[in-house]
Amino acid sequence: MIVKLLLDRKREGQELSPDEIRALVAAYTRGEVPDYQMAAFAMAVCCKGMTDAETLALTTAMRDSGECLSWDGLQMPTADKHSTGGVGDKLSLVVQPLAAACGLGVPSLTGRGLGLTGGTADKMESIPGYVAGLSLADYRKVVAACGCSLTVQTGEIAPADKKLYALRDVTGTVPSIPLIVASILSKKLAEGAGTLVFDVKCGKGAFMQTRPEAVALARALVAGAKGAGRKSVALVTAMDEPLGYTVGNALEVQEAMDVLKGVNGQAARSAAGAQYSRTGCQPVPDVTSLSVELAARMVSLAREMPLDKARELCRARLADGSAYARFEEMVRLHGGDLRAFEEERRRCDDAEPCLVEAVESGFVVSVDARKVAQAAFELGAGRAQSTDAIDPAAGVRLLVTHGDAVASGQPLAMLYAPMRRDRLEDVARLVRDAIAISPAAPAARPLVLEVVE
Ligand code: URA
Repeated sequence: MIVKLLLDRKREGQELSPDEIRALVAAYTRGEVPDYQMAAFAMAVCCKGMTDAETLALTTAMRDSGECLSWDGLQMPTADKHSTGGVGDKLSLVVQPLAAACGLGVPSLTGRGLGLTGGTADKMESIPGYVAGLSLADYRKVVAACGCSLTVQTGEIAPADKKLYALRDVTGTVPSIPLIVASILSKKLAEGAGTLVFDVKCGKGAFMQTRPEAVALARALVAGAKGAGRKSVALVTAMDEPLGYTVGNALEVQEAMDVLKGVNGQAARSAAGAQYSRTGCQPVPDVTSLSVELAARMVSLAREMPLDKARELCRARLADGSAYARFEEMVRLHGGDLRAFEEERRRCDDAEPCLVEAVESGFVVSVDARKVAQAAFELGAGRAQSTDAIDPAAGVRLLVTHGDAVASGQPLAMLYAPMRRDRLEDVARLVRDAIAISPAAPAARPLVLEVVE
């Protein structure tokens, strides 16, 4: 293989053969193709695109660059959910144990976040003792024991993607649908779940900001999975506003636990600051309903069950506490201590988080996801570089949501910043600015914008 000749052809928009793509990826993984040539390849793909056959060849070549897991020994259907990522997206913490409680094996390798807020692994690590970095052998044991595990992706899975994604990140070559599809799917295929559900976020707080872009990615993911022999479905879901009430690692774990427990405590959004419940909020309808929808899609595909029945089953497993029991068991098997977590949360609430108050009366017409994520980042909830430390306690708890009526002076949000108290004043302004209030009530917003099968 002469890499320069492949680059010449790709630059001219010609189709490469599956063998050529496989050879390129294998040589890159072994370190025989330098980064500058692979960056040129990625840029050519960005500019000229790829055919479906090329995308599939790239996907399977990256999948095969490392270990491919098999779950045949589990003797139950397996499924996984992948989200393209959004603000306050704690759905994996609810969906994976919920799907496990419905009889699925849910092997789910996850990530740490780079950017405004933490990834799923960061969220789980806000539970004292929780070890997200399990070996593949221990990860298998946890999935076998409780049906699910939120473990950080190891270097053994799709190493070609790890290398290429880092290169794309610094060469302006992330926004290419074939490259995104190959990157996401290579990892998901190598993780070995039999069926896949994609949550493609769309809006201000998402990677895909417009509906046509999000739908195109959803279609390409489903087509790619099909090409690789996996059943899948993609939901394009709204991400202009944060999901649920919390943005920040421990805050999001607490909210996910509230949803799993169906906590019906005094809603944090009901009254003045001093009266807010310290230990639990009303489970948020959007987090609950989207979790049920995604888990039901997993169950329906993997167990070949009508969707309505799968939804019913998921609601029943939430209501009878079995989904929460799976979560508890998973946390215990990862070494986490939920009692210590809840005590820590109470201590943070007792420390009187800063309140952001409304300066006018009206209705909440929008909550800007991007600004809330920026606020959480300023408070210490995210990392700019992979070596940065995250403050697990930092973040924003919204006390109002889309459509709520608010009175001037009413608290809109609580800010948690144990390590960055100096930032509170600026961040409070940012959060107030993120919450748009208008005299007229807004129309309801749909959560699921499109389903691609
Ligand atoms: N997430 C991935 O894993 N890969 C991409 O290319 C983009 C988002």
